[in-house]
Amino acid sequence: MRTRVTEQLGIKYPIVQGGMQWVGRAELASAVSNGGGLGILTALTQPSPEDLLKEIARCREMTDQPFGVNLTILPTIKPVPYEDYAQAIVDGGVKIVETAGRNPEPFLPLFKQAGITVIHKCTSIRHALKAERIGCDMVSVDGFECAGHPGEDDVTNLILLPLAARRLKVPFLASGGLGDGRGMAAALAMGADGINMGTRFMVTKEAPIHEAVKQAMVDASELDTALIYRSLRNTARVFRNGVAQQVLEIEAQPGATDFADIQPLVAGVKGRALLESGELEQGIWSAGMVVGLIDDIPSCAELIERIVNEAKSIIRDRLSTLVDDA
Ligand code: NAD
Repeated sequence: MRTRVTEQLGIKYPIVQGGMQWVGRAELASAVSNGGGLGILTALTQPSPEDLLKEIARCREMTDQPFGVNLTILPTIKPVPYEDYAQAIVDGGVKIVETAGRNPEPFLPLFKQAGITVIHKCTSIRHALKAERIGCDMVSVDGFECAGHPGEDDVTNLILLPLAARRLKVPFLASGGLGDGRGMAAALAMGADGINMGTRFMVTKEAPIHEAVKQAMVDASELDTALIYRSLRNTARVFRNGVAQQVLEIEAQPGATDFADIQPLVAGVKGRALLESGELEQGIWSAGMVVGLIDDIPSCAELIERIVNEAKSIIRDRLSTLVDDA
């Protein structure tokens, strides 16, 4: 499979593992890259820019294939030294960065000077066009199905991807709701140059999270996610556990929601503890609607091969037979 994404990123298959707080560590990123996709370390998962530098070095020992780093700029409980994390990415010699959250423009001169390919993750066409205009090399178009922060427009990929194909010149990845070869074939048909998967890669052998969390996502249906922080305009799609329900109840109370009332429930440190311990009510964790399509825990390489083979067979054996050019 050759697309603009495989060519520009120097990877075998057009499959990228999206940034995931507490999950995007060297074990997962290297497994995805070794499987022919693009693995991505998540910068803020590391407690300091120095630790990120060490994680980049660790990942490089685990794969000789390209990998990237995600830098997410969204509200946080503690201030984050973003510039220092960006500098660590450059100093670590990483050549691909996925930015997400706010406009990445302030970081572009640094990244571009270092010859870094910047993929900006956007949840709307206007942000994708802006990313293209300010010089991002690629965008990842993140539909409403996605895990984590889908923005506030609630537009699904059936609309976003064709719009992206019509309006963007830079290559783009389809993100949100992708987890099998059908999704991949559909995304390519809608004009995407590749796919980005987060939740699906959480449920793999190499994902550095507790087996109980993986199993919960295998058991879940497409109805088992919840949209929290809607009332704060920082909407996030998370797994619908008891803690997420509690957050929704607090947000449903009359009057404006005070983040302080939900902070103890949603603090990232608790989500991190949950992913490590497998105690599913310790906090919240991000999960996309794609949990409804996940029913096993393969290795990253097996998953990537399966998705690519399924997509190829749909394109060759199903789609080609639907057109009669004879
Ligand atoms: P954290 O512990 O600082 O905050 C926990 C959650 O509360 C985060 O979702 C954060 O966005 C939200 N939050 C914090 N302050 C807020 C405020 N004043 N108003 C509204 N919401 C607020 O965050 P963390 O779990 O350590 O994560 C670090 C960063 O990674 C955050 O920016 C977070 O948003 C981001 N993240 C992104 C995704 C994604 O899917 N894109 C998933 C998880 C975390």
